[in-house]
Amino acid sequence: MAAVTAVASFLGARADELNVYSHRHYTGDQEINRLFTEKTGIKVNVVNADADQLIERLKTEGANSPADLLVTVDAGRLQRAKAEGLLQPVESEILKNSSPAELRDADGHWYPYTLRARVILAAKDRVKAGEIKTYEDLAKPEWRGRLLARSSTSSYNQSLLASVVTAKGKDEAAKWAKGVVSNLARPPQGGDRDQIKAVASGLADVCISNTYYLGLLLNSKDEADRKAGQAVTVIFPNQGDRGAHCNVSAAGVTKHAKNVPQAKAYMEFLVSPEVQKMIANSTYEHPVNGDVTLSPTHESWGKFKIDTETFPKMSESQPEATRIFDQAGWK
Ligand code: FE
Repeated sequence: MAAVTAVASFLGARADELNVYSHRHYTGDQEINRLFTEKTGIKVNVVNADADQLIERLKTEGANSPADLLVTVDAGRLQRAKAEGLLQPVESEILKNSSPAELRDADGHWYPYTLRARVILAAKDRVKAGEIKTYEDLAKPEWRGRLLARSSTSSYNQSLLASVVTAKGKDEAAKWAKGVVSNLARPPQGGDRDQIKAVASGLADVCISNTYYLGLLLNSKDEADRKAGQAVTVIFPNQGDRGAHCNVSAAGVTKHAKNVPQAKAYMEFLVSPEVQKMIANSTYEHPVNGDVTLSPTHESWGKFKIDTETFPKMSESQPEATRIFDQAGWK
């Protein structure tokens, strides 16, 4: 927080602005931006779109781009933005100390601020403890007609499959995707929350979801949502080997940013304990800052091993993942 205050006083009374291109779509973020403006006087302007669209837009706009910061919900997209020369490095001890080195860019072109585990959720009354333990298990014939997953157009699934490509090679990954597709209880439709609700209603026994969607259901004002959330249990996959596939929400300063100090101050604000706690209790993403006390919801799921092995190659394996999805007929 000291850094934010320092930047704010250095900039004085100028009309400060920060232009963010963001793939995030969570209402809790508006409160975070409001608080940042209150503390620093820097106004946050957000353009929301899909990360691929935002990357295209940065390329087209070039030096004329108004964007100072690119925020995504997928490390692979930021790895790609860096490779395409769309980002610039930022030096910050606060940012470096806020997350594990394995989950950020070695050259400081982007820094994560939330952690998102993609896990298996199982019906408490129909799946025994230990019956399913790994992503690989999802493709086994005993789960025929018992599995649900959203569309392959989701970057969440693309990055999950990219991690399988990196860990197992493309042939094994292709077999896995085919196996998963043949186990689906219905063609992919809806978001992660829809899969959880469908498992709760008995349409299938297991589904693939990010943990925070379960957190949102468990803490919903709607009783039906809470009941759906309570019907499933979290299984962090592959705890005996590479760990659970995790992605991050992360931010990188654009190559042609006009407001670099403001962008850096904003990034440092996002990893402050205050904001990390807000995120953990509004979107239920895991804090990326390990020093932050977890929310009761996170405590109930327990600690888990993160797959840091395949994480750096997310972007590299994503095109292969897209090809495999098409071949496997994963809609
Ligand atoms: Fe999401």
